[in-house]
This record gives sequence, C-alpha cells and structure tokens, in this order.
Amino acid sequence: NADAAMYRAKETGKNNVQFYTQEMNSSLEEKLALLDGLRKALDDNQLYVEYQPKADLSSGLLFGVEALVRWRHPERGMIRPDIFIPLAEECGMIGAIGDWVLQQACHQARAWQAAGLPPITVSVNVSPRQFDDLRLVARVVEALNASGLAAGLLELEVTESLIMRDVGQAVAKMRELEAKGVALSIDDFGTGYSSLSSLKRFPISRLKIDKSFVRDLDTSADDRAIARAIISLAHELDVRVIAEGVETVQQRDFLQANGCDEMQGYLLSRPVAPQEIAVLLARQREAAERGQLLTADTQ
Ligand code: C2E
Ligand code: MG
Ligand code: MG
Ligand code: MG
Repeated sequence: NADAAMYRAKETGKNNVQFYTQEMNSSLEEKLALLDGLRKALDDNQLYVEYQPKADLSSGLLFGVEALVRWRHPERGMIRPDIFIPLAEECGMIGAIGDWVLQQACHQARAWQAAGLPPITVSVNVSPRQFDDLRLVARVVEALNASGLAAGLLELEVTESLIMRDVGQAVAKMRELEAKGVALSIDDFGTGYSSLSSLKRFPISRLKIDKSFVRDLDTSADDRAIARAIISLAHELDVRVIAEGVETVQQRDFLQANGCDEMQGYLLSRPVAPQEIAVLLARQREAAERGQLLTADTQ
C-alpha cells in the first residue's frame, strides 16, 4: 500500500524522503490527519446530512430528494464528501458512515410524511465497499423497519463503475434489494463503460446523467449528443432518466425538449437542511390545494 511505503521511506532515512515531493508529503500527512479526525467525526456529531430536491421535468413537482453527507470539521471547517468518502472506503469506515446516512435518510423521509407532507422518495448513495458488504440488504431492511419508512420510498444510487466490476454479482445483489421493494438507480451515468447487454440485466428504475455532460450543454455539440443518447438509451431500457448538475434555464430547456424526465441541480435547489425541504413540500402541497402546480421556477 502506497501510504505504508511512503511511511517506511520516511522512517528509513533522509535519502529516501527526497524522492517524495513536498506536495506528496503534505498530502500524506493531510490524509493521515483527516483519517484520525474521521474516526471521531461520527461519535462527535460532526457529520450531518443535507437533502437535494429532484423534480419532474414535465410537472415541475418535487418527487424526491438525495441524501448527501456533510462533515463539519472542528478546526478545518467543511470537508467535501469527494475527499472523505474515498478515505472512509479505504480505511474501512464506510460501513459505519454509510449505515448512519441510511438511517438518517429513512428517519427523515418518514418524519416529513408524519408531518403530513406529500410522500417523496429519498435516495442514498452507496459506494463500492458498502455495496459489496454481505450485510447490505439486512442493513437496508433494518433502516426501513427502524424508521417505519415504506421500502418503495427508498432508492439507492450506485455508480456505473461499481456495477460493471462484476455484473453477475451486482445483478444478484440488486435483485435482492428489488425484492425488498427498494428502487435502484445508476449514478454518474456516462462516465463508465456499460454495454447495452449488461445494462439490460440490471433491475434499475432510473439512469442519472452525470453532471460533466450537463455542464457544457450550451457550448458542446458532443455533450448534447451524449445527453440525447443517454436519454434514448434509458427509454429503450424502459427506465426514467434524470440529469444532475442542472444550473441554467438553457440546460433545463434542452433536457426537457429532448425528453429527459427529471432534473436535479442548483437551478432547482442546492442541497439543503431537512427543514427547507419541508418548506418546499408545504408550498407544493398548498399550490396543489389551490389547483395549481408549483413549477421549478416558482420554487
Ligand atoms: P453524487 O452522488 O453524484 O452527487 C452529486 C454531487 O453534485 C453532490 O456533491 C451535489 O452537491 C453536487 N451538485 C448538485 N447539483 C449541482 C449543480 O447544479 N452543480 C454542481 N456543480 N454540482 C452540483 P457533493 O454533495 O459534494 O457529493 C459528492 C459525491 O460524494 C457524491 O456525488 C457521492 O458520490 C458522494 N457522496 C455524498 N454523500 C454520500 C453518502 O452519504 N454516501 C456515499 N457513499 N457517497 C456520498
Ligand atoms: Mg448520487
Ligand atoms: Mg452523480
Ligand atoms: Mg458524482
């Protein structure tokens, strides 16, 4: 393992250290410091979950949210999940963190419902080691039972690269989850290498177009072609398609005009605290009671 190798090099003497750049040394130290902090983060309540709305592109209705974990470090401030989730994966902490997020998300979704708000789905990201864990299905069922959330309101987001490592194994695991009533979606779609034939085997309910293809829709003909191809692929597979990272009206209009079903992104809302989701849902319910639809614009 690279860390251990660098550590050994440091210990065996100065001559070896010079092979490593300042940058590498500081990033190793940085990583070890973060790792140490991460072990305490869960116990010390430094982690919390934000929720980002997902809206239907034809009705504008908010139909679901994605749970995104946050880490407020006591000295370093906010640390991005892009940084600490891979670290948690490496050091074997992803099980504990992932489980905690799953429980939080299920309880929160149940709480919105208990408050009389319209039912929405909650999506939880699952990383590779979490997915491979033999206890995953039991943990999901446990989180549903403990919260009282209906399985049909929970969705798990897995990445394309995760399921393509071992298609047979992934299909089996996904079927087990499907049998429990939990929906599955493929996150960051378009960044991996899926074949149509393997995609057809997965029991998924949606594909999520990676935000890297959404970002330059206005300027890149290639990205427009990719987005259109993913939309038609999803519909060919008979699954819904959602675009992530939608920031502008132009991007949304293009996606809508090309048959994309749903959207998520700063244009609609950034990831927010649960109370803010409750406010959005309450407004949506009031609009529905007046016989109006709350569109993404009015949100
Ligand atoms: P992801 O699941 O693909 O989530 C989308 C990321 O894009 C989120 O970043 C979100 O805040 C960001 N985003 C949403 N809308 C926009 C937009 O309009 N423009 C731009 N530029 N970005 C947007 P975040 O929250 O930093 O999360 C990054 C990644 O960390 C996630 O990517 C996911 O892979 C991972 N992650 C987050 N929470 C969890 C978790 O609880 N468990 C696991 N295993 N992974 C998580
Ligand atoms: Mg996701
Ligand atoms: Mg994504
Ligand atoms: Mg991503």
